[in-house]
Amino acid sequence: MATIWVLGDGQLGAMMKHAGQPLGLHVIPVDIMEPSDERLPLATTDVITAEREQWPQSPLSLQLSEHPHFINGAVFARLADRFTQKSLLDSIEIATAPWQLVDDNVSASTLHQQFGDRVLLKRRTGGYDGKGQHWLDSSQSTDIPNDWRQHSIAEQAIPFDEEVSLVGVRQADGQCQFYPLMLNLHQDGILMATLAPLARLQPLQAQAEAMLSRIMDSLDYVGVMAMECFRLGDNLLVNELAPRVHNSCHWTQMGCHINQFELHLRAVAQLAIPALTVKCPVAMVNLIGVDYDPRWLTLANAELYWYGKDVRPGRKVGHLNLNASDPEQLQQSLTTLKSWLPSQYQAPLSWMSENCQK
Ligand code: ATP
Ligand code: MG
Repeated sequence: MATIWVLGDGQLGAMMKHAGQPLGLHVIPVDIMEPSDERLPLATTDVITAEREQWPQSPLSLQLSEHPHFINGAVFARLADRFTQKSLLDSIEIATAPWQLVDDNVSASTLHQQFGDRVLLKRRTGGYDGKGQHWLDSSQSTDIPNDWRQHSIAEQAIPFDEEVSLVGVRQADGQCQFYPLMLNLHQDGILMATLAPLARLQPLQAQAEAMLSRIMDSLDYVGVMAMECFRLGDNLLVNELAPRVHNSCHWTQMGCHINQFELHLRAVAQLAIPALTVKCPVAMVNLIGVDYDPRWLTLANAELYWYGKDVRPGRKVGHLNLNASDPEQLQQSLTTLKSWLPSQYQAPLSWMSENCQK
């Protein structure tokens, strides 16, 4: 079988490698910044994918991205820039938060006239986990920072009811499949927790699938793509797209017979993808800036994924998947985690307790 090279060697690449192993797939994440004069031994039949939508230029990133089997090669740059991503959504009539490019002609006051008192500036590229955001508040007369002109878009503040995401796969023959919608909680712009599947999100599933199918079709996309949405009543607005496996879908490692990492590999390697089925509901909690705690392993319904990275404040260092089939056991685990995790976890864990059965 062909070797699958992954551009990037963070936790997503590592989990892809892990998922490929039982399938006999040889998956090699590449640290593209590794200073090396040597070229990778890529065969013409090998497949190249990425665990990130953007990367710095280096000899290794160039070698990988110029390979004829770099799957979705043209898509990455288009979706990594919020300006071209939002333009794409507009052109295929997918509802998204109202926006405009921050060019030399706009001022904070014209943006407030257009979008209201609170306007969110987002860097066109490079933002993640809420980094690269700047709020303009008319009551505080905040201004557009100079180096954000041309490099950011402005978005209307969306008074969403909640945040959901959909992850789907598109195969080379155009067939699409989807996991159930996921309910996400963000705190300070960073994903804290995900619950899936939830019966009450089911009525939105067809709408979400139609949106993501149209997006993937328009890009002739192959592989797993994530669509982050705001729910406003019965309507979904796309917040952003990620042309890759996604943090909100880590629950599928426990909850589905084919998890998102294996799903992506099957699609890019053109292997069979039977109907996706859910084995159990899952509550996923991200471990952010916290030290490894061996007590986590005592939770009977938990699976730990520790990324082995240096722990720094605000950094994703692992996640816990909690089996949610037994509501009582889940509540117990959430209560126990509350006593082990620091103060910023109290609200997210309460949110999980309240929402997991709804
Ligand atoms: P990611 O890590 O998912 O790539 P990001 O930092 O690139 O995140 P977004 O997903 O666009 O950026 O925004 C992060 C969070 O900020 C959202 O999940 C949401 O909670 C909040 N947010 C983003 N856009 C808006 C908006 N227009 N109105 C209100 N809140 C918003
Ligand atoms: Mg996001």
